[in-house]
Amino acid sequence: MNIGITSTIPVEVVYAAGKIPCDLNNIFINDQNPERFIRQAEEAGFPRTTCAWIKGIYGVMQEVHSERKLDTIIIVSGGDCSNTIALGEVLKHDGKRVISFSYPVKPDLDEMEQTIGKLARELGAEPDEISACKKHLDTIRLKLKTIDRLTWQKMVVSGDENLRYLVSSSDFNANPDQFACEIDSFLEEVHHRQPIKKKIRLGLAGVPPILNNLYTTLDRLDAAVVFNEVPRQFSLPWAPDCSLAQQYTHYTYPYQVERRLADIAQACRERKIDGIIHYTQSFCFRQIEDILFKRILAVPTLTLEADQPGPLDGRTLTRIETFIEMLR
Ligand code: SF4
Repeated sequence: MNIGITSTIPVEVVYAAGKIPCDLNNIFINDQNPERFIRQAEEAGFPRTTCAWIKGIYGVMQEVHSERKLDTIIIVSGGDCSNTIALGEVLKHDGKRVISFSYPVKPDLDEMEQTIGKLARELGAEPDEISACKKHLDTIRLKLKTIDRLTWQKMVVSGDENLRYLVSSSDFNANPDQFACEIDSFLEEVHHRQPIKKKIRLGLAGVPPILNNLYTTLDRLDAAVVFNEVPRQFSLPWAPDCSLAQQYTHYTYPYQVERRLADIAQACRERKIDGIIHYTQSFCFRQIEDILFKRILAVPTLTLEADQPGPLDGRTLTRIETFIEMLR
């Protein structure tokens, strides 16, 4: 059975229960026509001022659930987004099985163990199976860590390739073995590449952008994205050295923004980043956190906002061009 997920959760538990997690965000944004999912949600009554990711997930659950056998969804009801709670209530009323997963308010190890245990009981996953799945997925997380290192150290992986692989670690593309083979082929290919030469080194912070030409635009402006903050967090690069509960307490995204900012500041130093683009989604509460990005980060920071899937608008493009010129 496939299970839709709305954000990064302990997928080790889902696989250990013999079920297949499918990241609904990736199904939405990788569709040829993602706008139609948003339209479906708005026709069902979702307000125009709801984040497009939430509407996209709803549309995906309406349209492709039978094709992908998605009758169950795990929503992250704590540590992600309050919109998800309302989304879960509507989906439950629509007849879907909705399971809540809530990150502890603080990254407390005991509470995390309890939270993961609750999910395991709900899905029927046994401890031995969970350990075996963790071991297997950790080998893939190590490969993703290599992709990340080759992005900022060797400069043979582009920022959008980095994003594509790291963001897929939320569900391992619903097929960990196939995903591992794809990564192996990719690593073999980049082994023969010449380093990418760009004048400006950027970090991209925030949720994955809904825009489809941001990376190609930055590339054209002679800027390389050497750090994708949230996708790197999804990949949990520290996981092989930790217990399952520890690996999800190190994950910064569900907790206070100060932890994210400390992680970004460290990446700026380590990766010699010239500037940060902080992407924020329209109508997302995380836009408020941008105040602290501007106050705390020592590197120049540009805030970008977008609402719908598609290309950059003219005004946003001008702002990016000005920012890159300033860094140069
Ligand atoms: S972008 Fe913001 S509002 Fe939208 S789902 Fe993510 S956290 Fe929630």
